[in-house]
Amino acid sequence: MNYSVQFGSLWPSIRVSLLSEQKYGALVNNFSDADRVSRELKLLNAVDFVYESQKAAQHVHGDSPVERVRGEETAPQETHREQLSVEQTQVPSSLSASISPNIKCYTFSKGDISRFPPARPDALGTLGYYLLDAASLLPVLALNVQPGDLILDLCAAPGGKTLALLQTGCCRHLAANDISASRSNRLRRVLCSYVPKDISADVRITSWDGRKWGELEGDTYNRVLVDVPCTTDRHSVMEEDNNIFSRMRLKERQMLPMLQMQLLLAGLLAARPGGEVVYSTCSLSQLQNEYVVERAVEVAETEYNISVHVEDLSYFRRLFQDTFSFFADCRLGELVLPHLTANFGPMYFCRLRREQ
Ligand code: SAM
Repeated sequence: MNYSVQFGSLWPSIRVSLLSEQKYGALVNNFSDADRVSRELKLLNAVDFVYESQKAAQHVHGDSPVERVRGEETAPQETHREQLSVEQTQVPSSLSASISPNIKCYTFSKGDISRFPPARPDALGTLGYYLLDAASLLPVLALNVQPGDLILDLCAAPGGKTLALLQTGCCRHLAANDISASRSNRLRRVLCSYVPKDISADVRITSWDGRKWGELEGDTYNRVLVDVPCTTDRHSVMEEDNNIFSRMRLKERQMLPMLQMQLLLAGLLAARPGGEVVYSTCSLSQLQNEYVVERAVEVAETEYNISVHVEDLSYFRRLFQDTFSFFADCRLGELVLPHLTANFGPMYFCRLRREQ
């Protein structure tokens, strides 16, 4: 009832998509034989949506082809996006500077509902790709990680986004935290299956209450990801087990926006001045998305004298419109809507810059 009011005529389509099988993306593990893995994924007719979108945008600007940070040049690929609309020319030309680099994620194109087979281990036991909702990479791409960054992933388990952050090859140090000890163990197992020991040595896994982070390590990080607990809408319409909408969890559900706001505020306090924070949820709810961002900005300013700038990410909508279905009317941040032809999301993400 709530979402039919929020989304009006879009709601029936979103609802039926939430009730249908979701699509996945295959995040290539750069710590395995990434070229071989990419070739195998291409043979399935999947495309690296990150590469294709950047290539299409740079083609429009007449810039040189996309370069990965470590300098390897991905082989030119055929793209069905040679004809681009005038609107797409508004994508910033220096994309390599505005999107976390080196992330490769294969998806099947719009309307193609093929599935990826499970990843196989290589001779050393490392898995070649990680299956996840491809929309959940957008918050990581929006974080715009730069070489040598100190990064905090405040609510990290089970670890899909932590793994994506490590794929950038840019993390000088990554603090991955999750209040749940059992979920933190899942994160450890994910890293164990995908990341060599010398790299995971730079990852510090903790199980603290993220709301306290501002007091523990204030003004420290260049980049902070705040991927908060939420109503997990897609999961909630399909699974009875431990459902956040059950009567038993009413109080917890009512308190979610407050918890989310406190976590985002802690993320802002943990960022150093000039640092970037990305807030994300997998909920469609305005109350858990824009309203939380607005309230956290207000509290940061009034109670901590920290000014925060909410950044414009509308170029993400143009850049990735061939892969995802975006909501056009977010006041702050961007929202991927589930759609039968591109059944990813929901995923809300918003980037904030701590000014001082
Ligand atoms: N970022 C993860 C990923 O990509 O795999 C998913 C995170 S999930 C949406 C939200 C997480 O927040 C849960 O694992 C939950 O245990 C954790 N969480 C809940 N309350 C927290 C708190 N106060 N501090 C830190 N983590 C918390």
